[in-house]
Amino acid sequence: MLSFNELQRVCEKCEKCELSRGRTHVVFGEGNIKAIIMFIGEGPGHEEDVQGRPFIGKAGQLLTKMIEAIDLKREDVYIANIVKCRPPNNRVPHPEEAQECLPYLRNQVAVIRPKIIVCLGATAGKYIIDEGMRITKDRGIWNVKGNYHIIATYHPAALLRDQGKKKDAWEDFKKVRDKYKDIISEVIV
Ligand code: URA
Repeated sequence: MLSFNELQRVCEKCEKCELSRGRTHVVFGEGNIKAIIMFIGEGPGHEEDVQGRPFIGKAGQLLTKMIEAIDLKREDVYIANIVKCRPPNNRVPHPEEAQECLPYLRNQVAVIRPKIIVCLGATAGKYIIDEGMRITKDRGIWNVKGNYHIIATYHPAALLRDQGKKKDAWEDFKKVRDKYKDIISEVIV
């Protein structure tokens, strides 16, 4: 396992898959490296590629609002993606690309040791929870793996496309808020 700084240096130079050829910046992830909650998306979009930061475009602004709606700040949590380089035209990362990049994410999770992992969308759910997961059916359900409580919800970009999904996403976020409060109270007691 590499330290965060070493890992970031390795990622900045990574050329393990095709996505590295098209990138402006590696989007390593950002936030509190002692976070209790980690959010994981799919991969950087245009704005993220330009700035080298995750979830800062329209979907990211919605994610930030949703984090604030559960009484947290973006700086309290850690935000990363399944792949760290932008897929062309925002296509879904190919399985080989995700498999090359996942060890970096696993290293980040191993360093941060969040208690809660929120998978944003089907791609994150597929690689983190279960390959056969269906976001419409399996979202909002807690999965326990080792010390991690893992839940999937809709990707914020899906909420921008279909406002009808917002109610379910809000239910999922409330579950995250409640789990977070339980965990915090265990720590304090
Ligand atoms: N969508 C993602 O999945 N990740 C980002 O960082 C931005 C948009």
